[in-house]
Amino acid sequence: MEYPGNLFVVAAPSGAGKSSLVKALLELDSHLAVSISHTTRAPRGQEQNGREYWFVSEAEFRQMVDRGEFFEWAEVHGNLYGTSRAAIEARIAAGDDVVLEIDWQGALQIKQLFPHAVLIFILPPSWDELLQRLKRRGEDGEDVIDRRMANARVEVAQARHFDFVIINALFETALFDLKAIVHAQRLKYAAQRRTKKAVFEALGIE
Ligand code: 5GP
Repeated sequence: MEYPGNLFVVAAPSGAGKSSLVKALLELDSHLAVSISHTTRAPRGQEQNGREYWFVSEAEFRQMVDRGEFFEWAEVHGNLYGTSRAAIEARIAAGDDVVLEIDWQGALQIKQLFPHAVLIFILPPSWDELLQRLKRRGEDGEDVIDRRMANARVEVAQARHFDFVIINALFETALFDLKAIVHAQRLKYAAQRRTKKAVFEALGIE
């Protein structure tokens, strides 16, 4: 399936800084839209339906799966998460670039469907730093932190399947790296040909 917009898929173990990086990127870039996923987990804190996620019951989620409404879906930390066709198609068909902030299983499914999708994996600089970040976040008890650390070891092993890797040691550097990937993608021949059509035509380039 060929779309006019770029599709960026960002994955990372929890605590690596994925959400903060994507949030900062979106604030800087008005041509980038984030896809709102569906999830069966309960809202946390200030989360609102339709802003962070579409919060649905497991029955509703399973119905959507049966109706083929998801591009990808996966079970992550005991809950179901999925990217609906509706969440991506309208934006990307309009020529916007879309960012998916999803887990590695979903990222690999997306790559199968959209070989042009750009897969970006965010790594922590060390195990110790990841542990410190999870503790500093103060959201989770010790058992949850232990589980996230164990999951993280499985997750980072998947980084080899991604197109790009960002090591988030320093937030500003990691954000710079992320912007660079997005920018480079937009400079590719096919993208330039699409977005700067008039220039190409005036120059008589196919
Ligand atoms: P959280 O519950 O902390 O918001 O997210 C837990 C994990 O689920 C994160 O790794 C997040 O990126 C991932 N996730 C969020 N939305 C989706 C989705 O639509 N598909 C998949 N495969 N993973 C998702």
